[in-house]
Amino acid sequence: MAVLPEQVIYMDNNATTRVAPEVLDAMMPYLTQFYGNPSSMHTFGGQIGQAINQARQEIASLLGAEPSEIVFTSCGTESDSTAILSALQTNPEKNHLVTTRVEHPAVKNLCDNLESFTGRKYHVTRLPVAADGVLDMQRFKESLTDDTAIVSVMWANNETGVLFPVEEMARIAKERGILFHTDAVQAVGKIPIRLKETAIDFLSLSGHKLHAPKGVGVLYVRKGTPYIPFMNGGHQEHGRRGGTENVASIIGLGRACVLAAEKMAEENTRVRALRDKLEQGLLSTIPKSLLNGHPSQRLPNTANISFEYVEGEAILLHMNQYNICASSGSACTSGSLEPSHVLRAMGVPFTAAHGSIRFSLSIYNTAQEVDFVLATLPGIIAKLRALSPFWEDQ
Ligand SMILES: *Cc1c(COP(=O)(O)O)cnc(C)c1O
Repeated sequence: MAVLPEQVIYMDNNATTRVAPEVLDAMMPYLTQFYGNPSSMHTFGGQIGQAINQARQEIASLLGAEPSEIVFTSCGTESDSTAILSALQTNPEKNHLVTTRVEHPAVKNLCDNLESFTGRKYHVTRLPVAADGVLDMQRFKESLTDDTAIVSVMWANNETGVLFPVEEMARIAKERGILFHTDAVQAVGKIPIRLKETAIDFLSLSGHKLHAPKGVGVLYVRKGTPYIPFMNGGHQEHGRRGGTENVASIIGLGRACVLAAEKMAEENTRVRALRDKLEQGLLSTIPKSLLNGHPSQRLPNTANISFEYVEGEAILLHMNQYNICASSGSACTSGSLEPSHVLRAMGVPFTAAHGSIRFSLSIYNTAQEVDFVLATLPGIIAKLRALSPFWEDQ
């Protein structure tokens, strides 16, 4: 049976977000009246190019970048692939990549496949993280070699919200003449970003993680950075990405970036306070629960909590009966019993990694919703533990 949006307590915003009503309003004319192709010679189509360039400006402004540095893509995954494959192609004599053990599959699986399926041409260093999910900068410096073509490190982790010092890492890479890419899909709109003041060469973002639609993304390419397109075709995006523009979604993404700049203070005060209340409430009322990830070096909206001796999937199913939406640490590998690669990299014990739940909030969450989850979850965990053979031994 269908679950209606107004019945849902949605705390899964790192998986995807609702399209903001203002974003939809901005998009509608481009789905109805203004359907022309921006590449057309006639004014009816050509004028849409101006709207696209306004969106480009709005996005550049949120990133502290130049409009000419913004390339539209179909998603965060395409942006990640484009950056990494471009760096390998523009550095044909280099065969080494540096990344982390906790990247999103969009970077992780590309790096894994480059190593396995390209005639062993490439080798990859995957930097470890400490128990709180933080990177060891000394290890990072030692990993860079004369053969390193690119460093790809996420700005914020999608499972734990842990932030990495990508600005400092980019500076270190630049000193060695190495390109630096950051998957900032979870960071954009949640923390301030001024790309002009950094040495970052490539940055990926995705519309549907900041209240724009699914199926639109951006790759920021620093001016002067050598670049080879991933998608070849027409002259769209000044030859940097072929394919007719996803006009309405691009307009929506521009509007979403303006909104994100306006709401960033709220994200870092009201949303952070809701997240903290939820987190502290759960940790203090539920025995054997623990926070995964650094307590402060973290996004304001994300709380990843392990409930020992219960299965994350079982918790989610019970939460689902109350229409509470969240994710478990093994959601990305659903179908397998493997806990998430992120929690494994942090060395979270097996009994805790299996019972991890990620709550990711947005500006649309309310204090009442947090209170409802705090009133509901302890009972769910107690019920599941009563059934658990592992819990009995405690
Ligand atoms: C969601 C996400 C992606 C993938 O973005 P898509 O637009 O869904 O392809 C990449 N990296 C991170 C960190 C993400 O959270």
